[in-house]
Amino acid sequence: MDIRAVGVVGAGTMGNGIAQVLASAGFTVRITDTTDAVLQQARATIRANLDRVVRKGRLTAAQADAAYARVGTGTALDDLAACDLVVEAVFESFKVKCDIFEYLDRICAEPVILASNTSSISITEIAATTRRPDRVIGMHFFNPVPVMQLIEIIRGAATSDATYARVETLSQKLGKTPVEVHDYPGFVSNRVLMPMINEAIFCLQEGVASRDAIDAVMKLGMAHPMGPLTLADFIGLDVCLHIMNVLHDGLGDSKYRACPLLKRMVAAGHLGRKSGRGFYDYAAPSRS
Ligand code: NAD
Repeated sequence: MDIRAVGVVGAGTMGNGIAQVLASAGFTVRITDTTDAVLQQARATIRANLDRVVRKGRLTAAQADAAYARVGTGTALDDLAACDLVVEAVFESFKVKCDIFEYLDRICAEPVILASNTSSISITEIAATTRRPDRVIGMHFFNPVPVMQLIEIIRGAATSDATYARVETLSQKLGKTPVEVHDYPGFVSNRVLMPMINEAIFCLQEGVASRDAIDAVMKLGMAHPMGPLTLADFIGLDVCLHIMNVLHDGLGDSKYRACPLLKRMVAAGHLGRKSGRGFYDYAAPSRS
C-alpha cells in the first residue's frame, strides 16, 4: 500500500510543522485537534510559513498554494480513518497518547502505520495498547520541523522491519534524514542532549561560571549554534525537567538526577521563553 494520505493528530507547534512538511512533499494531510480555534491558528501558521518559503525562493507561489490546498482540518479523529499513516503529536501525556492510539487502532485499516512524535514516552508501551504493535513506530521530528533535518525513527520492541522501511522511505520523501534508534528512555537525542543541559545548570548552580560564560564556552569552543542555557530556555525548563525525570526513572542511574536549580526554576514558573523568564529575561528588549 502506497502512502498518499497522512493524518496528523495535534495541531500545535510540532503538528502544524509536520503537516506543512508533508503537504509540501505532495502528501494529502488531515490534521485533527480538539477545537476549531486551534485548527484555524494552525492553518494560519502553515500559510505564513509557506509564504516565507516562497519569499526565500525555495517554493513557487503556485507550489505553496497547492501545498496549502492539500491540508484539511477537523475536530473528529474519525476523519483519519481513510489515512494510510497517522502521526500523533499531542501533549506529552502517556494517557492521552494511549487513548488516541487505542481509538486509531479501532478505526484505521489493518495495514495503516501509527507513528508518535513523542520525545520521551516508550514506543513499546504505546504500541502495546494496540492490536498492531508491529505497525507502531516513533517519528521524532525536531523543532522547527520545516527547518530541522533529522527524524529520529524509534523502533519499539515489536516494530517490524517492513514498518521501519516504509517510514524510512517516507522520511526521505520529506527531504529529511532518518536515523534508526531503539526504544530506550530519551532515545539518543534527549539521552545525550538533556544531561548536557542539566550539567550546564549544575555549573551555574555551583558558580563554576556565569550564565553567559557557560553558553559562550559551548558556542565558541564546541561550535554549538546556541549555548545550553539558551537552548534550555528555548525548549522549556519544564520539558527539560520532565525528560531528566524520564531518564532517571527509566535508567535508574543517579547521573541522571535533575539539578536542584532546574527544579527550583520550574517550581517558580520560570520556564524559559514561553513564560518570559528562564535563564534569560525575555521581557528585556535586547533578547526579545
Ligand atoms: P503543543 O502543546 O504545541 O501541541 C499539542 C496539541 O495537541 C495542542 O494543540 C492540543 O490541543 C492537542 N491535543 C491535545 N489532546 C488532543 C487530543 N486528544 N486530540 C487531538 N489533539 C489534542 O505540543 P508540541 O510542542 O507540538 O508537542 C507535541 C508532541 O511532540 C509531544 O509529544 C512532544 O513531546 C513532542 N515534541 C515536541 C518538540 C518541541 O520542541 N516542541 C520536539 C520534538 C517532539
